[in-house]
Amino acid sequence: YSRDNSYLRDFDELYGQKIKEIKSAAVVVKEEASVYDTIVTLFLKDIGSLFIIDQQESLIGVVSRKDLLKITIGEGDIKKMPVSVIMTRMPNIITVKDEDTILEAAKLIVKYKIDSLPVVKIEEGSAESGQQLYKVIGRVTKTNIARVFVDFGLKI
Ligand code: ADP
Repeated sequence: YSRDNSYLRDFDELYGQKIKEIKSAAVVVKEEASVYDTIVTLFLKDIGSLFIIDQQESLIGVVSRKDLLKITIGEGDIKKMPVSVIMTRMPNIITVKDEDTILEAAKLIVKYKIDSLPVVKIEEGSAESGQQLYKVIGRVTKTNIARVFVDFGLKI
């Protein structure tokens, strides 16, 4: 393929791309939203997972298609049940930051067998609470990463 080391440059250019260059817009729902409304949002926004935020707009959970399907085949009233009951919660949420690379994101997606990662920016909350807020500033999915490979293949 190459006698020199140009493939190393290609490698860096491909895997070293920053999350902020490839992320897409996140869709968030409030913790008090019902499971029913969350399903409607998933269809309207045409995405596979949604991120759940609290009153301070800090990330507290993730809900996937299968989480929603599972609760739908159960007995509960999905119009009354808040989505926060079924979400995967912090601190178990796998996140990335704008400055991380696509290689780091791809490794996390493979390791944890998940479809999407919230992109977060950590902010200091109020002085009294001393809490850190996880502001959701995007999402990275398997599709984002596949697109990077396709675009790169077309370019070289
Ligand atoms: P699906 O469940 O529709 O196949 P995923 O593979 O993304 O979609 O989700 C698998 C499980 O992992 C779900 O229970 C979901 O709540 C959880 N999950 C999804 N994304 C994350 C994440 N970024 N961090 C932690 N858990 C996640």
